[in-house]
Amino acid sequence: MGISNPSVSVSQRVNPGVGEGNEGSLSNQDPPQYFFPNKMGRIILLAMEDVMGRNGVNAILNLARLPDYIEAYPPNNFSKEFSFDDVGQLLQALDEMYGPRGGRGLARRAGHACFKFGVKDFGPMLGIADLTFRVLPLGMKLKVGFEVLAQTFNKFTDHLVSLREDEQYFYWMMERCGTCWGRKSDSPCCHLAVGILEEGLYWVSGGKSFYVEEVSCIATGDSTCTISIGKRPLD
Ligand SMILES: [Zn+2]
Ligand SMILES: [Zn+2]
Repeated sequence: MGISNPSVSVSQRVNPGVGEGNEGSLSNQDPPQYFFPNKMGRIILLAMEDVMGRNGVNAILNLARLPDYIEAYPPNNFSKEFSFDDVGQLLQALDEMYGPRGGRGLARRAGHACFKFGVKDFGPMLGIADLTFRVLPLGMKLKVGFEVLAQTFNKFTDHLVSLREDEQYFYWMMERCGTCWGRKSDSPCCHLAVGILEEGLYWVSGGKSFYVEEVSCIATGDSTCTISIGKRPLD
């Protein structure tokens, strides 16, 4: 079949002779518990391919010890089989190959592409492309857009997303985050999620840019990955 069996990739990833937590930043060696649907795993890989080419993705998959996905992306269905562990591993490999700065830029751009592919796939089903949504005022559009996106993640993946807001910011809060799963980092590292939100904002606002920043991260020891989003466009 060529589809990675999660339990196999975990055993492949155990590195004999290396003490836990000493090397790299992956500490999670239990069997995967949490998943994206195959469709989203496929979108993530296609988005990475969009940003770094097929050879780039193949190199990352090798480094991430996920060679089963090379030339065999997950099928385009809703089965929850693409593990959070695999995504954490992929993004870790991206940082290792390109350095934290380069990895960050690529992950954000991959996030932009994820949103573009995702909205084609999920948009019609969620009704966010329809006329009633388009005619809402910007503030309301952002609110509804975040709610729909959060519901999409909560429904189709094992993420736990909630939303808060104050005068200045929306807060996209993930108590369980598939972007940094199993990772440890000195600074917030969920750049893929930041990229998805950035592109979502751009799309919903008809081309405007917003302040988007991850202000706490489970990979740095915080209890949530929280992304703050300025309520007003930058320009
Ligand atoms: Zn995270
Ligand atoms: Zn994070």
